[in-house]
Amino acid sequence: MQQTITRSPVTITIRQEPASVRLTGYFYAVDLGSHVRPQYHYVGINAECNCDLGHSCPAVDAVRAYLKEGGKRADRPPFGYYPVRPSTCPICNAKTASDMSLSSPHRGAGWVCPSGTSHYWKHRAHISAQRAGSQP
Ligand SMILES: [Zn+2]
Ligand SMILES: [Zn+2]
Repeated sequence: MQQTITRSPVTITIRQEPASVRLTGYFYAVDLGSHVRPQYHYVGINAECNCDLGHSCPAVDAVRAYLKEGGKRADRPPFGYYPVRPSTCPICNAKTASDMSLSSPHRGAGWVCPSGTSHYWKHRAHISAQRAGSQP
C-alpha cells in the first residue's frame, strides 16, 4: 500500500554568514565565509579590495558596515607611503595598474598608468618635495 506523504512547503534558508572584519596593518582582512571563494579578502583604506572585483567586491561593503558599527579604523599610512596603489593616477587621473617592480618598503605599492612609469616618478618627486618643504 502506498502512503501519501504531505509535505509542508519547505523553506530553504541560505544562511548568510556575517562577514568578519579585522584589522591587519593598513588593511582590513575580510572573511566572507567558507562558501565564498576566495574566502579572505584584503581591503585597503582606498576602499578597494585586492581581488579582481576591486571597488565592487562585497568585502568593501563589509568594511563599510563594520566601520558604521564603530569598528576600529585601519592606521593611516605615513605621508608618501602607499600600502596599496592609488586606483587612479594622481597626475592624469587615469586608471592605474600594479607594478611590483616599482614597489619598495619605503614607497609602498608601485603602479603604472597609461604614461608608463613617468607619472609614478613624477608623483614620487612631488612627495619628496612636499616632504622637504614640510620640514622646519
Ligand atoms: Zn574582494
Ligand atoms: Zn598618469
